[in-house]
Formats: sequence, C-alpha cells, structure tokens
Amino acid sequence: MERHASALADDTQQLPLHDTREVRLTPPVIELNDVRKVYKSGILEVEAVRGVSATIDEGEFVAIMGPSGSGKSTLMHIIGCLDVPTSGLYRLAGQDVGSMSEVELAQVRNRRIGFVFQQYNLLPSMSAWRNVELPLTYASVEKAERRRRAMEALDRVGIAGHAEHRPGEMSGGQQQRVAVARALVTNPDLILCDEPTGALDTVAAHEVLSLLSELNESGRTVVLITHEADVAAGAKRILRIRDGLFVDDNRTEEGVAR
Ligand code: ADP
Ligand code: MG
Repeated sequence: MERHASALADDTQQLPLHDTREVRLTPPVIELNDVRKVYKSGILEVEAVRGVSATIDEGEFVAIMGPSGSGKSTLMHIIGCLDVPTSGLYRLAGQDVGSMSEVELAQVRNRRIGFVFQQYNLLPSMSAWRNVELPLTYASVEKAERRRRAMEALDRVGIAGHAEHRPGEMSGGQQQRVAVARALVTNPDLILCDEPTGALDTVAAHEVLSLLSELNESGRTVVLITHEADVAAGAKRILRIRDGLFVDDNRTEEGVAR
C-alpha cells in the first residue's frame, strides 16, 4: 500500500486537478478555495485577496511571488492561521480553518506550522537552543526531550556549535538558521517562510535557500513568500500573485537556484 501511494504521488504531478483528487490518499497540506479577504476601516473597504484557489501537496516547495501590495502578507496570514478569510474555504492538512476558535487556531499554528520571518524573530535574551525549544514549551513537551530535540534541530541546520550563543552573537545567516531550526522542531506539516532572505546578504541568502531546498528534499513541505524572482527560483513551483489574484502557476523539475 505504501509503495502504491508513493507511485501515485509521483503521477499526480502530471495529472489535471480533478484527477489528482480521485487518487489522493492523504489530504493536501493546503487547500484554498475562492479565498477572499476584505479589510474594512470605516466606510473604506480594501479587497486584499480577491478569490484565490490552489492546492499544495505534501512534499512540495512552493514560492508565492508578487510585487508589493499584491496581497502576499494577507495570504501569508491566512495560510499561517494568523487571520481567517472573509469568505471562501481554507483547509490545512484537511482541517477547515475558517470554523476554528482563537484557541484552536493557536494550537494549529503551534503544531502544524513552522514560521520563518524576514527579521528572524528570535528572543534576544535567550541562547539559540532556548529559542529553538520554545515551541515545544507551548506544546507541553518535557524538559529533557525539549533540549534533545532543540539540539537535533540545530544540528540539522548545521549550527549545533552555536547552541549556547545568543542571537546578538551570531550573523544574520546564523540567526536565520536558528529560526529555521525553531520552525522544524515541532515536526510541522508546513514550513511557512515570509521573505526569509530579505534581511540577508547574497551569500547568506543563498545558504538559507539551499537549506530550505535540502529540507524539502528530505520531505518537508515548504511555502516561501517573496517579491524577488531570484528567491522564488529556488522553489519547485511558483504561484504568482497580482492584485489579490493568482495569475500564474508554474512547476519546474527542480529549483534552478540550487
Ligand atoms: P503585500 O504583502 O504583497 O505587499 P498586503 O497583503 O500587505 O500585500 O496588502 C494587499 C493590499 O491590502 C494593499 O492594497 C494594502 O494596502 C491592503 N492592506 C493590507 N493590510 C491592510 C489592513 N490591515 N487594512 C487595510 N488595508 C490593508
Ligand atoms: Mg507584505
């Protein structure tokens, strides 16, 4: 059955959407169906996301790319369960997010999603491994197990030697590796990156992109949000967003930036 499933997973890449649904054995990681987001302030309404639909399967590496103001952050907040759509359906790993309470959303964020932000968002007073273990604290994992898993995640991103260093004692690239380790440590369904290379020099940016590619090669589902074509080129599929709509969905055999 397992073998059968992986054979089908390879085939689904080439099949049209209605066929992939018939053969799918696990739910997609992300399913967006006519998702809209309207911001209201007083009498003003801004429709930031105007009806986007897409399916992202387990093991994909997808870039969502678009210019400033195209709706990337709005969509990232929805995909990351930081906000809910005004209308339309969003399922994360088969779960309907739109109907969840604040508490349920917080749990889903903690358990199912690893976030990587442009500015790393590490706590400056804590060492690298303490930062990495933090999501496990919220998930009520025992102390010894937290330490073990934090060290394993730091090792995975090639920075175990800096476990006791605070963010201020590390370069931007090293800090972003710590942030990636923190995103990995809960073993999430999805790693969601918002302009992860935006604060890095070219060399460090390339290293972080290579790391994301490596994680994807080992089976992680990665969604990367960016305005830069160079960065998006590291992904295996590029969804272009413009004026709140997906205008293009391109798959490549492998990311060209690697
Ligand atoms: P991007 O991240 O691609 O720059 P955003 O999702 O931030 O795009 O914004 C999309 C559109 O929605 C823009 O026109 C922006 O001005 C508007 N917008 C974003 N956030 C808000 C908000 N909280 N209230 C009102 N309008 C917003
Ligand atoms: Mg933005």
